[in-house]
Formats: sequence, structure tokens, C-alpha cells
Amino acid sequence: MRRLDERAEFFSRWLAEGRAAGMGWLAKSPEKRLDPRLIDPRLRSAIMLAWPYTPPRIPEFDWRAEMRGRIAAYALGPDYHDTVKARAIVVAEALAATRPGSVTRVYVDTGPVFEREWAANARLGWFGRNTNLLNRRHGSYFFLAEILTDAEFDAPDEPYREHCGTCRRCLDLCPTGALEEGYRLEPQLCISYLTIEHRGPIPRAMRPRLGAWIFGCDVCQEVCPWNADDATPVNEALAPSLVELLALDDDGFRRRFAKSAIRRTKRRGLLRNAAIALGNSGNPAAIAPLARALASEPEPLVREHAAWALGRFAESDARAALERARLREPDPDVAKEISLALDRTP
Ligand code: SF4
Ligand code: SF4
Repeated sequence: MRRLDERAEFFSRWLAEGRAAGMGWLAKSPEKRLDPRLIDPRLRSAIMLAWPYTPPRIPEFDWRAEMRGRIAAYALGPDYHDTVKARAIVVAEALAATRPGSVTRVYVDTGPVFEREWAANARLGWFGRNTNLLNRRHGSYFFLAEILTDAEFDAPDEPYREHCGTCRRCLDLCPTGALEEGYRLEPQLCISYLTIEHRGPIPRAMRPRLGAWIFGCDVCQEVCPWNADDATPVNEALAPSLVELLALDDDGFRRRFAKSAIRRTKRRGLLRNAAIALGNSGNPAAIAPLARALASEPEPLVREHAAWALGRFAESDARAALERARLREPDPDVAKEISLALDRTP
């Protein structure tokens, strides 16, 4: 319990420092997160489950030349909230069948639960410098699920000690410097936070640093020696076409991502990210799709980022697209971004 108390203190300090940023749900009812008996006074234990996944290999490609973005491996395929929860429910029902009238609640990355901390306490892994939970066998590629129950169990053994040793690869290779000494992460610098959880415009200073990432970021997991490459098959879906994404309308987005974790960004978030990556590509072939988005995209947030992206190009057609848009843009934020972009273009 000593270790959990330390993490609870860490979490309270983290919230007080405003690090939850746009993740307001983390600051909501923190006391319930720390003590599940406030969710339901009958609850006594948390059974922690880990569901490993093996990330496919990244296809070999020049993302700038092919204008392809990157998505985090966990987001491939059906949404893990649904698939992992379905499996956890099977376990919870088996437990409930042995104890008629018992209380169980199942969560997968939802609800006010302190899941990584409980998982560490249950010896599913230890906190690495990349702030992920690391397991000797599965590295950090696993989802967590928890069953809160009124059943009582013996207290778990002491948590694992850390096994990062002198390694600092994740700190040194994080593209944005989001990882800090002391096993801490600054969400407002983290590409995963910015591309998925952050609503509204991405801070301008961060846009070039997102590179090709459009949904999450796996760098601090890919470089971790505990995530050994299992020579899994390549999956092209890890690197979708940015031009195709930027052209998705509401129906197209729903059809493509209705059952995917990617729907969390909503269409406007994903297209915002695709526009940034197209600007970062530096490929002049990105100018035409960006110009189309600036001229006809209904979401101001997407037009705003298309304008920013066009401002990264020295080609005259990028400037012409911005000048045309300046004459008719009704949204003040987009108009401001167009002016800033025009100031940057030659
Ligand atoms: S997810 Fe990416 S940006 Fe965030 S800490 Fe890891 S490497 Fe850095
Ligand atoms: S990359 Fe190295 S320092 Fe970072 S979590 Fe993995 S083992 Fe620890």
C-alpha cells in the first residue's frame, strides 16, 4: 500500500500543477479514482487484467514523398474499449457465477479508476521512464482492464522494482521532449495528447514537431528495449494516405472509423492533424489538397490548419490559395491564420 499512497500523492500533485491540461475527466472526482469505495461502498478489491497486443511492423516508406501519416499501433482494428471489455466481462461473469448476488464493475480505460497504479500494484508491470507500465514478457504493448468487486483477496506482494537501469532511450528520442526525469510526462508536449485528446487548435510551436503523427505516437514504445521486435507482419494501415484523410466527409469518416478508437478525435480532429502532417511533409504535391480544404472544408478548425500548412510552402500556388481564401473567409480565427501564413510565404 505504501507504493499506492506514493502514487496517489504524485497524482494529486500532478493535478494541482495543471498537468491534466484538456483531460478534464482526470481532475473530475479524483477521490473516487483513489478510493473505489466512493463509487460503491460495497467494493473491496480490484482485479487487474492485461490484454497484450503485438504491434505490426511499420511499412518502409518515405512519408514525405508518399504523404502518409502515422497512427499508433493500438488504434489499428476494432476499438480496444469494446474488444477488451467484452473479454473482461467474461471473466467478471465467471467470478459472479461463483458468488451469487456479488457486485462487479468492469472498466477499460473508462470510469474514475486508478488503473495503471493498481496494475503496478498487482505486479502486471513497473513504471518505465516513458511512463508506460512495462512487463518483462510483453513490454508496454498491452491494454488494461479492471474488475472492481466486493470479493476480498489477500493484499498483493510488493510491486516490481523498475528495470530501466541506465537506459534513457525514450527520454532522448521523444520527438517533443515530453518526457522528464523522474518518470514524468508533460501532456501538453506529448504528441499522443495533442493529436487525440487536445480539442481546438494545436499550439503553433508544436505543429512542426508532430511530424507525420496524426493519431497518437509510439516513439517512446518503439525505442524501448523491452518491446523487442517480434518480426510481425507489416500493416499498411499504420500509415494511411494523408490526402485521402483530408478529403473524408462526415459519412466517409463514419464508415471508415465507426468501430475504431480513432473516432475519439472526431472527424475535425483527425483532419486537423492530417493538414498539419501535409504541411510538415514539405511535398509540393500537398498544396492542391490543402488548397481544396481551405476553400471548401466546412470545419473552421480544419481550414485553420490547412492555412497554416500552406504557409509552410514557398511555391506560388500556396500563396495564391491563401490570397483567394483571405477574400472570402468568414471565420476570424481562420482569417488570422491565413494572414499569419501569408506573412510567412515569400
Ligand atoms: S508518445 Fe511520443 S511525444 Fe509522447 S512521450 Fe512518447 S515519444 Fe514523446
Ligand atoms: S526506453 Fe529505456 S528508459 Fe525508456 S522505458 Fe524503456 S527501458 Fe525504460
